[in-house]
Amino acid sequence: MNVDLLKRLCETPGIPGREERVRALIQKEVEGLFDEVVTDPMGSLICRRHPRAGAGKKKTGRAASSGKPTKVMLLCHMDEIGFHVYQIDEKGFIWIDPAGGFDPRNLFSRRVLVCTDHGDFHGVMNPGGRPIHISSPEERAKVPEVKDFFVDIGMPAAKVQKNVQVGDFIVMDEPFREMGEKLVSKAMDNRVACWLGIEAVRALDKSKAAHTCEIVVAFTTQEEVGLRGAKTAAFGEKPDIGFGIDVTLACDTPGVPAHETVTNHGKGFALHIKDSSFISDKALVDHVEKVAKSRKIPYQRSILARGGQDGAAAQQAAAGARAVGITVGTRYIHTVTEMIDRKDLKAACDILAAMLADIR
Ligand SMILES: [Zn+2]
Repeated sequence: MNVDLLKRLCETPGIPGREERVRALIQKEVEGLFDEVVTDPMGSLICRRHPRAGAGKKKTGRAASSGKPTKVMLLCHMDEIGFHVYQIDEKGFIWIDPAGGFDPRNLFSRRVLVCTDHGDFHGVMNPGGRPIHISSPEERAKVPEVKDFFVDIGMPAAKVQKNVQVGDFIVMDEPFREMGEKLVSKAMDNRVACWLGIEAVRALDKSKAAHTCEIVVAFTTQEEVGLRGAKTAAFGEKPDIGFGIDVTLACDTPGVPAHETVTNHGKGFALHIKDSSFISDKALVDHVEKVAKSRKIPYQRSILARGGQDGAAAQQAAAGARAVGITVGTRYIHTVTEMIDRKDLKAACDILAAMLADIR
């Protein structure tokens, strides 16, 4: 398993609207794997692979015989949740505007990276207020809002003003870690999907299996603020079938009742039946399930009560497409300790490669 690629993807900063570094990494990584790679006007990277004959065969399958191949689109968002610089005050403290959903309880005392045109600067994030030694019990009981947090990059105000401007972006600064069967990082949401979009096609390529469908892997932008890049990318492509690839909740941890776990770590990829943005196509769900069973790829069905993902954009683009979600259960989502299980990641990669070969 190419863990190094996932590490590099996770550690590369890229928030909604500022995915350029992640895009550059992917673009380099997919060289030779696709027939065409373009960046669309919203910044999504659209990677196209025409149908291929299997090893030993000369002609491509359906493309050569019966007209237009089925177009299968994989949607993998590149953005991670983060912040834009909102304002710099007279003392040089940086105030923030969130891009994506943060729980303020997870923002205390964080190391962050402020990414600017003049370089990246290390910073720390804390809420305004007194430290424990001099605060009252009432002050300590209150949970601040996201807007109460600020970033300190430890420079004199004039230097901050010179290097940082409104609109620069800020990400969490935490290293990727391997912990036995688990992998932990910030931005697993959704560099896991970027990894899958590359590795599944790579696996298909290496297997030398034929695929009669046209494959379009779209590494999309601005998902965390409302599937924006996926909407335009899917409209541009008008796929027949869309796979929304993302992480989902794995609440198999203390404090959550068993019926609310959504997924359990180590039980395989999650076959996404519905969330609040879309309901997966029943026939496609059945197809994925059939292929998973025949190839002994572990999986679990899942429903996310609240939340959306790029599969919805594919399903609802233009006159619509058949869509399904393939997800990887993740503990502690939208924190710097997002944790996945290698078995689930491998299962997601295996099913995607298998589906791409199986769809006619
Ligand atoms: Zn996501």
